[in-house]
Amino acid sequence: MPARHRSRSGEAGGAILFTRHTSGGLILSKRSNPAEMSKKVKRVAKWLGADLVGFIKLNLDWFYSHWGTHTVERYGVHEEGAPIEVHEEYKWAIVMAVEMGYENLRRSPANCATRDIAYSHMAIVSSSLAEFIRELGYKAIPLGNEMALSIPMAVDAGLGELGRNGLLITEKFGPRVRICKVITSLPLAPDKPIDLGVQAFCEKCSRCADTCPGRAVKHAERTDKPWNICNNEGVLRWPVDGVKCLGWWAKNGTWCAACIRVCPWNKPDKGWLLWLHKLVRWTIARTRILNRLFVIMDELFGFGKQRIKPFPQLGESER
Ligand code: SF4
Ligand code: SF4
Repeated sequence: MPARHRSRSGEAGGAILFTRHTSGGLILSKRSNPAEMSKKVKRVAKWLGADLVGFIKLNLDWFYSHWGTHTVERYGVHEEGAPIEVHEEYKWAIVMAVEMGYENLRRSPANCATRDIAYSHMAIVSSSLAEFIRELGYKAIPLGNEMALSIPMAVDAGLGELGRNGLLITEKFGPRVRICKVITSLPLAPDKPIDLGVQAFCEKCSRCADTCPGRAVKHAERTDKPWNICNNEGVLRWPVDGVKCLGWWAKNGTWCAACIRVCPWNKPDKGWLLWLHKLVRWTIARTRILNRLFVIMDELFGFGKQRIKPFPQLGESER
């Protein structure tokens, strides 16, 4: 069957050249290259609802070694304890962050619906993007939290830095994001890790550790030694005790996220304070000397305090 070429343009990514594949899929024209394709995939991912997007070469160090209870019980497609195998044709990953609502998360550690809404967005964005890539004739698997560690992948993809609270700290939303991924055979141009000044800032700030009701975040210096079974050895960071964290969730009757609410990087990216926060972030990226002052000012201005507004009425937004 002769190859049939057509161009398709859309709101999402401008013109992309396709060749119809005999199997029914679409393969990219030879005129595409990874850098060009990366721009288009980024635009499509954002159009689908991702707030931040980056690419990496797949690093199997960030993958779990074996399928665990949770995945087996929920999806029943693997045997517990069976090794996780990733076919060698999956050489790249698209890492995406989805924002959680600022106002809704201010309830924390009371129940915040924004987490579950973000999980739903993750599923829509990652599965839609994977389908888009499959339509191009490449392999793609959408991933939420299963199979691989999201945070190191997001750090490698330049979405942000690792904070004291063990979470990804992004420039625009701070730690107020959830992360999803698509692993793919589509060649992409990898992004690079970024330096926003987060790690230096965390050295002068301990609001997450001060606030954590589960005592799961450390005040101590960074270390490459594990705190307990929750941590691997050999990565310089502030280890977080996942067992204590989860224990507090169980006691609390819902999840928590107090370490997200109080983080000075968690700011609404709108309103009259927007430009002031941008200036502070710009300064933090260039010098450390004002970091302690910024932490004190953040507390003085009352940022990070719990605020429980009545639940919004039908049709109201609480983002
Ligand atoms: S989610 Fe809550 S309990 Fe867990 S580390 Fe953050 S503040 Fe602590
Ligand atoms: S609250 Fe402070 S110490 Fe904790 S992650 Fe945010 S900036 Fe770092």
